[in-house]
Amino acid sequence: MSRIKLNIRPLNLKLKYPFGISRGSISYAKNILVALHFGDIVAYGEAAPSSYYGEDQNTVTKFVNDFIREKSTEEYIANIHKLKNDLSYFSSNIFRLSAPAARAALEMAFWDLIGKINNKSLYQFFFQEDDPFITNGDDFKYLPQTSYTIGLDSLLVIEQKVKEAIASGYKILKIKLGYGYEQDLSILKKINETIKNYTCVLRVDVNGGWDLETTKKMLDVLPLYKVEILEQPLPKGNIRLLSDVYEKSPVPIFADEDCMVSRDIELLAGKVHGINIKLMKSGGIIEALNMINLAKSYNLKIMLGCMIESSCAISAAVSLSPFVDYIDLDGHLLIENDPFSGLSFQNNKIIPSFDPGLGVDLCYVS
Ligand SMILES: [Mg+2]
Repeated sequence: MSRIKLNIRPLNLKLKYPFGISRGSISYAKNILVALHFGDIVAYGEAAPSSYYGEDQNTVTKFVNDFIREKSTEEYIANIHKLKNDLSYFSSNIFRLSAPAARAALEMAFWDLIGKINNKSLYQFFFQEDDPFITNGDDFKYLPQTSYTIGLDSLLVIEQKVKEAIASGYKILKIKLGYGYEQDLSILKKINETIKNYTCVLRVDVNGGWDLETTKKMLDVLPLYKVEILEQPLPKGNIRLLSDVYEKSPVPIFADEDCMVSRDIELLAGKVHGINIKLMKSGGIIEALNMINLAKSYNLKIMLGCMIESSCAISAAVSLSPFVDYIDLDGHLLIENDPFSGLSFQNNKIIPSFDPGLGVDLCYVS
């Protein structure tokens, strides 16, 4: 009988503004909070399931319950790589659903548990004590700045959101587009006008909302707005078309929806400039680390991104941030009811907590 007890419950995160992307808009992120109780220790993991990837609160709950019921979980405290392998096998051969967010939540909870048992923060598993990231902890110069997302909405609301973002000190805005050429152009113009007196970097994320013709037309105008990165212009599964655009693109193109795990990187290498890695797509930290190493071997730039997540899952991702080129870890900044504390925001960077495990504390669950 395992001494690890599981508790799993819905975690509904309320967005400050409805979050609009080219595929639709949400007011709540319906996440799942996993808690592992081991003696006096409580360890947490979070899933942010997406229907686009075939998951919701019900599939995550069933996956986690079914997996824990089958396994003698205590062995994972000494061997988290076995947990990763068992989760992969269980998802493909027994559960028959990839369930990346469910796997990410369980792996995250075990990282938190192992860190708390050993009194080590997550960073201490990935970085040596003499690593510049650790020793220069005061100014965090090895952490990239985060972008802050401006979701699709009416021009009036977009303008309001951009003004608020600037007032809050955000210096890199990730603009969601995908309404079509004319409307997207008017959004870019409005934002450009709103930020004209500020130093602000723009990135564009289309979530696969453009066709090839729109992508080509937009690539002619994006440099006028000094857009730093164009993310997933074409729908998932159009890598051949993406490679045509990539060769002539004046703006670096990053794959997000097209890049979930390591084997996707093999297909994308030489066809995009960079990839967006998310724990909720990779199925956990270990696979995200594999992806980081593989992407570097192909000279691909790496963005570390997120879904709408509380500080719990964001903290897990932040622990990998010194390894990557670009950070888009703003999920917890977009919600009203973050139940966890521990992360802070300084100089446009998400500053980690160096407390054991994920380093975050549960304050309440609404
Ligand atoms: Mg994206």
